[in-house]
Amino acid sequence: MKTLNRLRGPRVSVDNDRCEVYGICVWEAPRLFQLDRDGRLRYRRQLTETDFAQAAAAARSCPMQAIMLRGLSEVSADE
Ligand code: SF4
Repeated sequence: MKTLNRLRGPRVSVDNDRCEVYGICVWEAPRLFQLDRDGRLRYRRQLTETDFAQAAAAARSCPMQAIMLRGLSEVSADE
């Protein structure tokens, strides 16, 4: 089971070598991802816990699997 790492906080990053700027993440999580006038992807790196579900949806929908979420830690099921 995954939980949020409360010490470092959830964070998002995008691998620019993979991202083809399809913009699907912008539709999935418009508060977190935006396309600027130059067609470059901008995104908020630090997430709140309430943003995390949207960021996870964006990561799942990215056809290039370019979105990475960090700040999760593994805990065993009996904790
Ligand atoms: S959905 Fe993925 S490939 Fe498309 S803009 Fe977002 S990060 Fe880039």
